[in-house]
Amino acid sequence: MKIYNTLTKTKEEFKPINEEEVRMYSCGPTVYNYAHIGNLRAYIFMDLLSKTLRADGYKLKHVMNITDVGHLTSDADEGEDKVQKAARAQNKDPYEIVNFYTEVFLKDIESLNIRKPDIISRATEHIPEMIEYVQKIVENGYGYETSTGVYFDISKLPSYGILSNKNIEGEQAGARVAVDKEKRNPLDFAIWIKAPENHIMKWESPWGLCFPGWHIECSAMSKKYLGEQFDIHTGGVDHIPIHHENEIAQSMGYCGKIPANYWMHCEFLLVDDGKMSKSLGNVYTLEDLRERGFSPLDFRYLCLSASYRNKLNFTFESLKSAKTGLERLRNAVEEHENGTVSVSDEEMTKYKNQFLEVMNDDLDTPKAMNIVWEIARKVNKSKQYAELISEMDEILGIDISVEKIATIREMEEKIDILATLDDETKQLIQEREVARANKDWAKSDEIREKLTKKGISVKDTKEGMEIKRM
Ligand code: AMP
Ligand code: ZN
Repeated sequence: MKIYNTLTKTKEEFKPINEEEVRMYSCGPTVYNYAHIGNLRAYIFMDLLSKTLRADGYKLKHVMNITDVGHLTSDADEGEDKVQKAARAQNKDPYEIVNFYTEVFLKDIESLNIRKPDIISRATEHIPEMIEYVQKIVENGYGYETSTGVYFDISKLPSYGILSNKNIEGEQAGARVAVDKEKRNPLDFAIWIKAPENHIMKWESPWGLCFPGWHIECSAMSKKYLGEQFDIHTGGVDHIPIHHENEIAQSMGYCGKIPANYWMHCEFLLVDDGKMSKSLGNVYTLEDLRERGFSPLDFRYLCLSASYRNKLNFTFESLKSAKTGLERLRNAVEEHENGTVSVSDEEMTKYKNQFLEVMNDDLDTPKAMNIVWEIARKVNKSKQYAELISEMDEILGIDISVEKIATIREMEEKIDILATLDDETKQLIQEREVARANKDWAKSDEIREKLTKKGISVKDTKEGMEIKRM
């Protein structure tokens, strides 16, 4: 597989440290609000990567964190803890906030067909590991205490800025004016923060009651689960200049190693050609899309139309085209499923290889979709083509496999039937549900008879009552 490595700024052949198992860490969400579709694009990218690696035959150990404390309103050291701020605004306990948004996030990724990482690690459950990490940085001479926390001394690390090619001197000069006087260098960053009186999430530590800096969380958790050096680290492009730069610095201070060999970053999703922002009212969640009649997978399909390394412009027009495209694709697969033409082994292998080849070329999803469409459009209809596309869907994750389409059609049928029932029939169905809940089988059967007379058949399954027109 070839992947673009932000660290070396080149597309490289991927070579894992250990052929037996690839180790990958993904920066996860800060759970103080609903994830917006820009955030979700980054996790769709993460999922395409993990599935392609698995399709290549690698065993993968994939870790993703949940930041439930320590992410300040600026990615650097300014502002309030995002979770604390949300808790204050909603007059809730911060743990209530993070539990709620973590659950919503996990549901969101499930509805986008994103495979749950093998380990999902919450920052607040790894405080001892973080304290150990900070202690060692200080012992090694890379960290120092001030009245507000423990800081990383970037002057001790000549390679600081390696990931983003930052002009350290220029940035330091620019930052000098507003800088905290206790810091040794303007770009020194907090790794451990002394908790203000009103900060609810705080822990005893060698530096008093504190909470972790966002960057130390990822350093300590990736080290715990994947070791000091692992293969791939993913995130969004906004992580490059601060968060990931600082993770690298911390690891250098801790053990003298860059934690990951390959750093991969997903570009931004734009909305109407601009940044998503609350003031413009264009920060959309999956729920917003659903309310407008779109499914999460319509959005996933849209994301496949661009490489993760390019900006993608979101408009409701483009989402509408994605929805239409996806529906046409499903229809095409159904037609193939009913086809009888036989396809040669040679052609089947050719398509399988072509598909894997483009996915292995730094996840070239636009080319992968071209291949899918080429097969979908074949005039000769063949069950084998439907099988081929089903297999590709294991990576693409847009429910274009024969099995997934069948489930979707069943659901659509159910919704259609329910929408057309008259009030009396609906009432009978409800009464039957009550009878069954009360184990009143005689009544339940009696109602079934009545429904049959109205041309409605009901069957009881594990998932509930199945309703069909006869
Ligand atoms: P956060 O929860 O703010 O830490 O962000 C979660 C992920 O979403 C990170 O990987 C960010 O880099 C990414 N991200 C934030 N905004 C966008 C956007 N507009 N487009 C794509 N990715 C984004
Ligand atoms: Zn991180």
